[in-house]
Amino acid sequence: MELKSINPKNNHLISSWDIHNTNDVYKIVEKANKAYLKWKDTKLSFRINCLDEIASLLRERSKEYGTIMADEMGKPLNQGIAEIEKCAWLCDYYKENAGNFLNPRNIDTENHKSLITFQPIGLILGVMPWNFPFWQVFRFAIPSLTVGNGAVLKHASNVQGCANAIEKCFLDAGFFENIFRNLQIPGNHVKSVIENKYISAITLTGSTPAGKSVAKTAGDCLKKTVLELGGSDPYVIFDDADIENAVDACVAGRILNTGQSCIAAKRLIVTKVNANEFTEKLKNKLSLKIMGDPLDDVDIGPMVSLAARDEVHDQVRRSISVGATLNLGGEIPEGEGAFYPLTMLSNVRPGMPAFDEEIFGPVFTVIVAEDEDNAIELANKSEFGLGSAIFTKDLEKGEKIAKTELQSGACFVNDFVKSDPRLPFGGIKMSGYGRELSYYGMLEFANIKTIVVKS
Ligand code: NAP
Repeated sequence: MELKSINPKNNHLISSWDIHNTNDVYKIVEKANKAYLKWKDTKLSFRINCLDEIASLLRERSKEYGTIMADEMGKPLNQGIAEIEKCAWLCDYYKENAGNFLNPRNIDTENHKSLITFQPIGLILGVMPWNFPFWQVFRFAIPSLTVGNGAVLKHASNVQGCANAIEKCFLDAGFFENIFRNLQIPGNHVKSVIENKYISAITLTGSTPAGKSVAKTAGDCLKKTVLELGGSDPYVIFDDADIENAVDACVAGRILNTGQSCIAAKRLIVTKVNANEFTEKLKNKLSLKIMGDPLDDVDIGPMVSLAARDEVHDQVRRSISVGATLNLGGEIPEGEGAFYPLTMLSNVRPGMPAFDEEIFGPVFTVIVAEDEDNAIELANKSEFGLGSAIFTKDLEKGEKIAKTELQSGACFVNDFVKSDPRLPFGGIKMSGYGRELSYYGMLEFANIKTIVVKS
């Protein structure tokens, strides 16, 4: 059996990769564990030097890595280069802050000494998706390795070129041999890796069904999980919003990665006073965008695969069949490749696929609310709770609603939702649990160990 990388712009096979059998997997994990036993005893300053080195390598190789992503999953090259630069920024961030984050904390008690220390816990298995094939991996691996853990990657089957390039990058940057390893296995081989005695914890970024499956096995083994799952982020546009800014943010928040992002602007909820202006401006802006070869200067490339494209098209057709209006796109273009045009649906309501399901592609969904209360109610009418955004000129009101009303792991006022190494990232409800990035993400896979010394 093999894993295959297929270029979605023309459906040509790029490479196939032999699957690691059970024995191969066991040996790789065992070696990773041996590396971990040495790595955990290195000085933090050594691990921080490795971060510096890998950040430089990423910057040097951004075009090379961006090209692999364009070929394997269709990401426009300019966005791929930006993704690699963001990975380097993440390394810089932990380089600058890990010392402070991992510094033992003295707590004043009646004892001679009471300390909180942060210790590694072992090998972390990262089960990762194809949509940000470098960023997702770095955001789990860098903080984990910096704490002193080892990392084992099970990347999406279709991006093994990216996975192997990342493995090599860690080695080239001076990380110990085997401290970061890629397993070439499909999703249905993950269960036995979770059960492997050397794996201490699992982080999965992907769909909600995959998250549930991993959590079930990990629960049986009593191993910790962090789950970053699907989303259907609502963008709520209030009566007093700056419509031009709201439209720009919605476009930026949905178009990235050809709409295949967990935190994309998936439900645009506008109060009825602004509905016409918003819809018209959105359509005009989308009409100017360019779809094409991801190696050219384009706004969107192909989707990841023909199957993914067909699924999105089916969601669009089913939404139209129950009353949604098609304003733009919605037709599969002639020619080879998994291309799907920027598509806009309006008159979308609960009960329609475009409202109830996560659409993982370049589809803009406009929902009209009666008033601001109704807009919030519609925003929360989702099983997901990853990101959300609110647009209003009243910043105090926006902040209050962001804090207390919208059910999500992050809420942005007057901007589109984005991840940032300095800020925690994660969801609630069916979007998962746990946090990545920032101080909070770094501690997810640390043993927060209490030390008490009595004189
Ligand atoms: P996916 O099918 O769930 O795949 C993600 C990873 O899980 C892949 O490595 C996949 O391996 C593996 N996998 C699939 N089923 C599994 C199972 N039953 N047990 C163990 N592993 C399994 O998701 P995707 O289609 O690649 O990505 C799209 C989804 O990810 C969307 O729902 C999106 O919103 C979500 N996502 C969330 C975040 C976040 O931070 N919250 C970020 C990005 C994406 P194979 O490739 O071998 O199947």
